[in-house]
Amino acid sequence: MLTAPQFSPAALQSVRTRIVRAAERAGRDPGSVRLLAVSKQQPAAMVRAAATAGQTEFGENYLQEGIGKVAALADVPGLTWHFIGQLQGNKTREVAADFDWVHTVDRERIASRLSAQRPHDVAPLQVLLQVRLADEPGKGGVTPAAAPALATAITALPRLRLRGLMCIPPPAAELEAQRRPFRQLRELLESLNAAGHALDTLSMGMSDDLEAAVLEGATIVRVGTAIFGRRPD
Ligand SMILES: *Cc1c(COP(=O)(O)O)cnc(C)c1O
Repeated sequence: MLTAPQFSPAALQSVRTRIVRAAERAGRDPGSVRLLAVSKQQPAAMVRAAATAGQTEFGENYLQEGIGKVAALADVPGLTWHFIGQLQGNKTREVAADFDWVHTVDRERIASRLSAQRPHDVAPLQVLLQVRLADEPGKGGVTPAAAPALATAITALPRLRLRGLMCIPPPAAELEAQRRPFRQLRELLESLNAAGHALDTLSMGMSDDLEAAVLEGATIVRVGTAIFGRRPD
């Protein structure tokens, strides 16, 4: 008989410990790295259990599923919701209404819509540019070369607040290979800041490479499997 998967507070704790160890190894304040629990394909009850265990930030990839969970957990105070999935132009209104952060902005047209559609009674939408680094063919994301112009355009939008950059590099087995794209993203952020931006957020690192990301300066790691177990498929 199939039983519903149970939330494991120990798994959440072990991810937190990994973050602390990596931060200490990097000589960074562990408090400077936020854990985003990626709850895609997990039922609302799992998210509620994680929230009860003290997790406050959640990431969702699929819009309808995500807004269902935002609504299902509306009674839990203090949660922050991040949209980390592909953004489609006809879905921006719901993202702008229901989420606090969006990690996957890669086009000015989408950014303009999000700004125009962000409700006026809530804080500006916190936005990251998704960057497509060298060896990520076919994925979403702005190229590093096009990032400065897009960053400048987003900064002019009244209801968005550009906070930084995000990437999803292909899996790599070795620590050094894992670090390379994360280093590139950090250097891109540094060059944008040298050009006058004030970006403070690097969203990078997942279950299998969060240590490499923290070593290269991640301020948000996005972790699903290591917290919730394997996703049902
Ligand atoms: C699914 C997903 C994650 C989490 O991946 P895990 O390997 O399960 O930790 C992180 N970021 C994005 C954009 C995702 O789609």
